[in-house]
Amino acid sequence: MKITFIGLGIMGQAMATNLLKNGTSLTVYNRSIEKAESLRILGATVAESAAKAVADADLVISMLAGPSAVDQMFLSESGILKHMKPHSTWIDCSTVDSEFSRSSATAAQKSGVSFIDAPVAGSKPQAEAAVLSFFVGTTAEGIAPFESLLLQMGQKVIPFGTAGQGSSFKMVVNMLLGQSMVIFSEAIQLGTALNIDTEFLLKTLPKLPVTAPFTALKTDNISNNTYPTHFPLEHMLKDLRLATQAYSSAGKRLAVAETVKAQFEGAAEAGRSRQDFSAIHAYLTS
Ligand code: NAP
Repeated sequence: MKITFIGLGIMGQAMATNLLKNGTSLTVYNRSIEKAESLRILGATVAESAAKAVADADLVISMLAGPSAVDQMFLSESGILKHMKPHSTWIDCSTVDSEFSRSSATAAQKSGVSFIDAPVAGSKPQAEAAVLSFFVGTTAEGIAPFESLLLQMGQKVIPFGTAGQGSSFKMVVNMLLGQSMVIFSEAIQLGTALNIDTEFLLKTLPKLPVTAPFTALKTDNISNNTYPTHFPLEHMLKDLRLATQAYSSAGKRLAVAETVKAQFEGAAEAGRSRQDFSAIHAYLTS
């Protein structure tokens, strides 16, 4: 099976590296081509153009910034979906909304290509350690031919039955992630204002059952006031926008998510887009 990987950002780099380290032969493409160099060293074929990258692939895996990047790369007038082989498969690991995944599936079907949404849980360290979880928008049978390949990059593949439902679950998870980060930040702010030692709060709160466990991975960032990028803040903002838009299209409002989204918008406007999303704490306390 000829496999192509498109999108070599923070996550794509690590995921493609793990495929190569497992002996999977791979063609790769990235808009900023210099990011492909480390993969060339590991044995990847680096395609000169996206169209050439997918032309004879049986499977194309994409890991792009979000809906507009996937649209530009695959679905637009100049997009590469039309260059893909009939009967090939496109697995999109990008975090996008479920409606967008369903329209990708429809467009793929028109080109004779099978589509599976497969967004991931886990950040840069989990991608590097190949312990991601894939939320796939198909059945266990539908993902079976690709499961061993996904397990070279992760440790769990969870089928959600139909196209778009992997993305639906990812939207729920990331809304919680963004909200929980802000809630943790506010707890630190309140505790500090009440004269409790900040270091004590950072060490103790993540161990309590009331706190989201992932916060333990972000306490060093807060303590050192440095935010090395694992999950870019701009993508957290994108995910909060996707969640709130999806819900408001049903005429309803997610009050907490809307508030948290506005806070991330402020942080992005303050120049923190490419910092880790935990930099929301630095923004909220500045
Ligand atoms: P990233 O480092 O920002 O990389 C984004 C990728 O998308 C790069 O390859 C970038 O190409 C490409 N891209 C952006 N706009 C494009 C366009 N218009 N046309 C073509 N390519 C375009 O992001 P990441 O952290 O790897 O995340 C990738 C996806 O995974 C996102 O959907 C994110 O929400 C999701 N995700 C991230 C994490 C995490 O912790 N980082 C965890 C789970 C899921 P260039 O290199 O040329 O800019």
